[in-house]
Amino acid sequence: MKGWGRSKIAIETVQSTAKSQRVAAHSHIKGLGLADDGTPEPVAAGLVGQLAAREAAGVIVELIKVKKMAGRALLLAGAPGTGKTALAMAIAAELGTKVPFAPLVASEVYSAEVKPTEILMESFRRAIGLRIKESKEVYEGEVMELTPQETENPLGGYGKTISHVVIGLKTTKGSKQLKLDPSIYEAMQKENIAVGDVIYIEASSGSVKRVGRSDRFSTDHDLETEEYVPLPKGNVHKKKEIVQDVTLHDLDLANAKPQGGQDIMSMVGQMIKPKKTEITEKLRGEINKVVNQYIDQGVAELVPGVLFIDEVHMLDIECFTFLNRALESTLAPIVIFATNRGVTPVRGTNVAAPHGIPVDLLDRLMIIPTLPYGKDDVAQILAVRARVEGLSFADDAIDKLADIGVSTSLRYAVQLLTPSSILAGINGHETVDMDDIEETNDLFVDAKTSGRTLAASEDGYLQ
Ligand code: ATP
Repeated sequence: MKGWGRSKIAIETVQSTAKSQRVAAHSHIKGLGLADDGTPEPVAAGLVGQLAAREAAGVIVELIKVKKMAGRALLLAGAPGTGKTALAMAIAAELGTKVPFAPLVASEVYSAEVKPTEILMESFRRAIGLRIKESKEVYEGEVMELTPQETENPLGGYGKTISHVVIGLKTTKGSKQLKLDPSIYEAMQKENIAVGDVIYIEASSGSVKRVGRSDRFSTDHDLETEEYVPLPKGNVHKKKEIVQDVTLHDLDLANAKPQGGQDIMSMVGQMIKPKKTEITEKLRGEINKVVNQYIDQGVAELVPGVLFIDEVHMLDIECFTFLNRALESTLAPIVIFATNRGVTPVRGTNVAAPHGIPVDLLDRLMIIPTLPYGKDDVAQILAVRARVEGLSFADDAIDKLADIGVSTSLRYAVQLLTPSSILAGINGHETVDMDDIEETNDLFVDAKTSGRTLAASEDGYLQ
């Protein structure tokens, strides 16, 4: 991890909706749609056609599962709209629905305020998940022991500070030893809670979060319903296992201005309070330390996700150098690149290379080509998308839209689905028919047509 993202530049944490919209366009994709022997079904799991690429992607999933992809990455090479993003999402889905999927278009790394490698670093951490298994416990019992544990003053002065307090509790189901934070100990002292008192405790994974005198603690936080209910006398043990999935980036954000404890649950708690943040390399290092501790203790488990970098040829040599190094890290996600370029110069150099990717990185890549779709595949994809969006189309309307898709692009045809259903509604049709499609297609132009129009009437536009 050391050496990643040297920048100390602040990142404003603006919630990006662009990313979720991009993913929503692929919500019909549930997996690679492969049979048990790894061969692709023509239409399955929301995927249509692109059989060879899907079979190859299945092999990659196997490699990832047997942990043979470390230090390597995948490149999807094919024309726009040939399903590169769709395939990357399908791979993520095959790895498990809880596996993070972080999409990034390479041009997004270039901004006025933040270094490209910093954005890459952030994306890496968006793609690394952490599954935290926490047990919440509730106890009532008599205080048997209250022992402050001291450590040397961390500021180097004389005297000692209290690192934590050990509390021994005698409950009706036996005795229990728990750890108290010094701040909770202070609160207990204000309440004059001492050995011999009967108290009520909420703990999580062995550390006390809340303490109160039992006779005054009139409410009990019900762990099942999250409601406060009267504390039943003699109710000593309650346990609930809570599983929470977060990404390393979530933890970075939550702790950019640390408040409260440094344990993982307080970090997660802080996530719900959005605020302006500054994520430094030092902070990331600290988070990694805590995360590693929790992994060692078996409280948390790493879930490497998928980082998808589209238009990878837009990256420059500095970014590629960063990627080469980052891929070697033990905390690396599975990286999938996509490009529609052939041989082209590597940005920041005048050396041409296949897909604009330096040869040393190319060396690490497994490459899967994606091929343009025929009309039948386009029609099938449109039908699947229409179904997912809850839209009703006549067969000839889908056929017409498929023709448009073949002559323009799949993306353009997919984009016409919703507008044409709105027009159908205006025209009083429940089902979109061919006329609605033609009318919609007259209202909008695809990128290629727009380009041709521009070229033909250049004089009419400002240069
Ligand atoms: P670009 O290079 O422009 O990013 P792309 O190759 O990533 O394009 P996608 O965005 O994956 O193409 O495809 C466009 C749309 O078609 C998306 O909504 C995608 O989910 C859908 N799609 C593409 N291929 C398939 C497929 N084989 N099966 C089902 N849906 C597909």
